Amino acid sequence: MSLPLPRTLRGTLLLRRSYGTVHSTPSAGALASRIPAALREATAATAPRTNWTREEVQQIYETPLNDLTYAAAAIHRRFHDPAAIQMCTLMNIKTGGCSEDCSYCAQSSRYDTGLKATKMSPVDEVLAAARTAKANGSTRFCMGAAWRDMRGRKTSLKNVKSMVSGIRGMGMEVCVTLGMIDENQAKELKDAGLTAYNHNLDTSREFYPSIITTRSYDERLRTLQNVRDAGINVCSGGILGLGEKDEDRVGLIHTMGSLEKHPESFPVNALVPIPGTPLGERKMISFDKILRTVATARIVLPATIVRLAAGRISLSEEQQVQCFQAGANAVFTGEKMLTTDCNGWDEDRAMFGKWGFYPMKSFEAEHLVEEAKEFEQGKVEEVVEEKSTAQDAVRA
Ligand code: SF4
Repeated sequence: MSLPLPRTLRGTLLLRRSYGTVHSTPSAGALASRIPAALREATAATAPRTNWTREEVQQIYETPLNDLTYAAAAIHRRFHDPAAIQMCTLMNIKTGGCSEDCSYCAQSSRYDTGLKATKMSPVDEVLAAARTAKANGSTRFCMGAAWRDMRGRKTSLKNVKSMVSGIRGMGMEVCVTLGMIDENQAKELKDAGLTAYNHNLDTSREFYPSIITTRSYDERLRTLQNVRDAGINVCSGGILGLGEKDEDRVGLIHTMGSLEKHPESFPVNALVPIPGTPLGERKMISFDKILRTVATARIVLPATIVRLAAGRISLSEEQQVQCFQAGANAVFTGEKMLTTDCNGWDEDRAMFGKWGFYPMKSFEAEHLVEEAKEFEQGKVEEVVEEKSTAQDAVRA
């Protein structure tokens, strides 16, 4: 015969039983009401899709954060090794004096930020910086120049190409961000061995004119198309905390997810307010918005590298790890990130070691494996060609 339990213990006993044994799953109805159909479909996907509607992206973005990050983590595991984080270093090879009016930027000549404009760095100085980055564990080296575009910059392009070839020859992935480029400039950079070209869309099409007026959203998309047509990988992302709304973050991710081919890299920047710029007084965006954006990007762009970029230094280690768990898998690391401070190599390696991450190898990302082989093949062919030309010369 069993005695009835006192009311106060009934709950305790049930709790103990349900802690060790699964008696029932949460009601399917409760879960279904929280998880939108678009997210359920995305969770089962085995390949990226480019026919997202903005409503679907919005529904995913608005999923309760705990469910959203859980789904993002599952998708991340299907498309990537969740322990691999790419370490890249970004160097400014030409600082300040830019004619554009990007409201967040210290390098625009329109704002008094106290930044001194410089000429382009010499090639050997840049190669030395890339060697240091490599020695410290970076496998991708990115170079930025503060320009509107590459028109009339033949010598600069020649120097950039030397930098690209030199860094690629070190076995590193190499990326540049030089403003707008045309088809021919893109082809020249591709021939020099460029892995990726960065050109951010920054925000949604609707909010964009509040941030930049000197070039249009369509001009930016045209550069991305030129890059894509030349066979270079696309790196394009956004900046959070410009004063945009949730719908603008959704709009940005939707634009990326609707491109004919998704960008291979999606940087997520958090505004670092620079005194003297129109956005110099803005407060840092709240972390939940950053995490939500990372998770949504991971779900909508499942095969893309999602890159924690500017502003990472303001996140705690635990917040960074939450972003990695929700699908971020690259960081900028080193002494500086363009003109702002950056988490350093030692700090990042220690964090990786503590949490069980490892630095991604160069060309480890699936979309780069073939390209690396082709480049190596090209190099071998070049050497054979050089040798036979030299032999011909000797014979002659
Ligand atoms: S184009 Fe680049 S360097 Fe020039 S103001 Fe805009 S963000 Fe800054």
